[in-house]
Amino acid sequence: MKVYKFGGTSVGSAERFRALVPLINDDTQKIVVLSAMAGTTNALVEMSELFSDGKTNEARKKCEALRKQYHSVAAELFASVTWSDRANDLINEHFDYIAGLFSREYSRHNEKRILARGELISTALLHFFLSETGIDSKLLPALNFMRIDKDGEPDYFYIRENLKREMASLSDENILITQGFICRNVFGETDNLRRGGSDYSATIIGAAIGAEEVQIWTDISGFHNNDPRYVANTSAIRELSFDEAAELAYFGAKILHPSSVNPARLKKIPVRLKNTLDPSDEGTLITSESKPEDYKAVAAKDGIIVVRIRSDRMLQAYGFMGRIFDVFESFKTPIDMITTSEVAVSLTIDEPAYLPEIIKALEKLGTVEVEQEQTIICVVGDFRTGRVGSAPEIFEALDTIPVKMISYGGSDNSVSILIDTKNKIEALKALSNKLFPAK
Ligand code: ADP
Ligand code: ASP
Ligand code: MG
Repeated sequence: MKVYKFGGTSVGSAERFRALVPLINDDTQKIVVLSAMAGTTNALVEMSELFSDGKTNEARKKCEALRKQYHSVAAELFASVTWSDRANDLINEHFDYIAGLFSREYSRHNEKRILARGELISTALLHFFLSETGIDSKLLPALNFMRIDKDGEPDYFYIRENLKREMASLSDENILITQGFICRNVFGETDNLRRGGSDYSATIIGAAIGAEEVQIWTDISGFHNNDPRYVANTSAIRELSFDEAAELAYFGAKILHPSSVNPARLKKIPVRLKNTLDPSDEGTLITSESKPEDYKAVAAKDGIIVVRIRSDRMLQAYGFMGRIFDVFESFKTPIDMITTSEVAVSLTIDEPAYLPEIIKALEKLGTVEVEQEQTIICVVGDFRTGRVGSAPEIFEALDTIPVKMISYGGSDNSVSILIDTKNKIEALKALSNKLFPAK
């Protein structure tokens, strides 16, 4: 069994919904994971922000504008009165629900309920459209099986058992449709896997059912060697290893959710990245095979904070580093990069939630400095220790850009460099010119 995930652009209009049918309608059984229509989650986030700021009239206006957009998609998608009436009823049900929440108190939980609407609507629309077209399909509600534990990690046992139960009631439908992104948390409340989380849903489901392959369908032909939003003339990489893809996704390649490679890597399930706008393109295949090349790709992760701790007590002392790590552990804040000298440690985090508390705790150990608006540039390639020549090329490319931290040797397949976010685009372009010169 395969898992197919279609992102926002792939369900972004009536025309895109129609284009999905030939991609999923064959005689094999598959789970189809859908995102919300392009732009919907952003609009729901904006509504929630207005709601949280007490601007409920403006939130309602946005809600009504989005409702109208959905009615016009339904008008274009459905040919029969029966199915367009059903679709319009469904759309109204969801938007009435959102509007109803605006009359209540804002809470994080109500916000998550609002954010879940996009995927609930897109999956129902595809199910209705297939029914109108005479193709059997079944909706598997993600909220009945997708669950995260107290640390926000997938609860595989729960997911497997509940997915099994959902699938036991199937007749002979080949197309099983479910929502990406949404899940329940440890309290059973509606929650989500963070922005871009439908990729993660797909690989979690793939791992839970031991899928033959997970296909991530998006709006570009595979994983590119640099960020196409900032750099021209990027090109697709045909094969990547799980480790390489995981590093690139974690360090900012938007094509994959940062955690989405992990479940596939765990169960060695191949992940194929495909383009709905050009389905015949082979895209990128991610497997456990690694084909070392000098340089494979570059990615950038923004929103990084550097924390520097200086203390003379570090000199020749043991246990100091342990105490620093304990602080981050107690605030459940992961560290991305770290460099040390005799009397100072610099490290980076991307989660500011507990920054004031972390600083306060670290000040007991030494002098603390913090810098925000930093970016980690990650270069993936062959950096096995003992090789010569790679580091100079990277630093030659960056010779006009102030480098703040370097992490080399922590991984065989990546090097990370910290710079100010304002220098990111220049750095990405310079690295492209040097590492991937036009042929
Ligand atoms: P979807 O809505 O299908 O999940 P996303 O917008 O999340 O699509 O991801 C696809 C986008 O990721 C591409 O359109 C591209 O702009 C961006 N992107 C960033 N880095 C890369 C990269 N290295 N390779 C391909 N796409 C990338
Ligand atoms: N709709 C969600 C988002 O926009 C999840 C996804 O598209 O993957 O973040
Ligand atoms: Mg995405």
